[in-house]
Amino acid sequence: MKIGFIGLGNMGGPMAINLVKAGHEVNGFDTAEVSLDGINMADSVAGAVKDAEVVITMLPNGAILRAVADQILPNMARDATLIDCSTVDVESARAVDVQASGADLLFVDAPVSGGIGGASAGTLTFMAGGSDAAFAVAEPLFEIMGQKAVHCGAAGAGQAAKICNNMILGATMIATCEAFALADKLGLDRDKMFDVVSTSSGYSWTMNAYCPAPGVGPQSPADNDYQPGFASELMLKDLGLSQQAASSADADTPMGQLALELYKRFVEDEDGLGKDFSAMLPRFEKRGRE
Ligand code: NAD
Repeated sequence: MKIGFIGLGNMGGPMAINLVKAGHEVNGFDTAEVSLDGINMADSVAGAVKDAEVVITMLPNGAILRAVADQILPNMARDATLIDCSTVDVESARAVDVQASGADLLFVDAPVSGGIGGASAGTLTFMAGGSDAAFAVAEPLFEIMGQKAVHCGAAGAGQAAKICNNMILGATMIATCEAFALADKLGLDRDKMFDVVSTSSGYSWTMNAYCPAPGVGPQSPADNDYQPGFASELMLKDLGLSQQAASSADADTPMGQLALELYKRFVEDEDGLGKDFSAMLPRFEKRGRE
């Protein structure tokens, strides 16, 4: 397949390389200077998408996605498919879908989970929104770049699934970290705490698979001085998107709102920038009640 790939950063770069390794022709474009093995870099967005059967975008946010969509949609071949893998607001995904169908193009919003490691290893999970026809075009490419793809519903449903999942993740990580900090102050051994909670009703992915306490449970960023992993500022971005969506849908999400406020403070005022989102544990350790 001839594929245009826009946004070849930490995630997009390795995803595009996996497509090349699987035998596809990839023409890339990025506003930054990028050079990647096997990818032909175009001088312009239009050059990268011309004649492509599929165009994939992996961009920082919804405003940039909308700006890029304005540039690429008029230059794409008729009946081609645009797959946006960025994490963006639901409204931007739906707006680009409307714009794409107006230009006789198919569109899938397909944000991912699995991070930079998953992008390199080709083990991402894709959460996709769009028509059956659009998903059918995208699915074989998801199989190359990932290990699982769920067709969640119409356009925007992929972004909705992603931000709901990450709202649970952010709130659960905070709950896990504050419980460890409380256990410390109660004199409870961290290994005993893990043994009990990971096999009791408090178990969760953040406790069992990504334990925020160094040396406890399976290997995680906590064992590597909280190098990300999943950086706190990316969690902050996703919590912001979930509150934006909650506000436009009139949904009451107090835990998500509080998680947003705590990660905002952590990233902006408390040295959390650049640290894994599980570094909330040392933050709680240092504090008493306010
Ligand atoms: P990144 O900043 O490394 O990459 C984004 C790339 O887009 C950059 O190379 C940038 O130069 C390029 N870009 C920006 N504006 C552009 C434009 N107008 N035209 C062309 N290229 C442009 O970010 P990333 O970590 O690769 O993340 C990309 C997306 O994936 C984000 O939406 C992020 O939320 C999401 N995501 C990231 C992770 C992660 O662990 N990094 C995990 C899941 C999802």
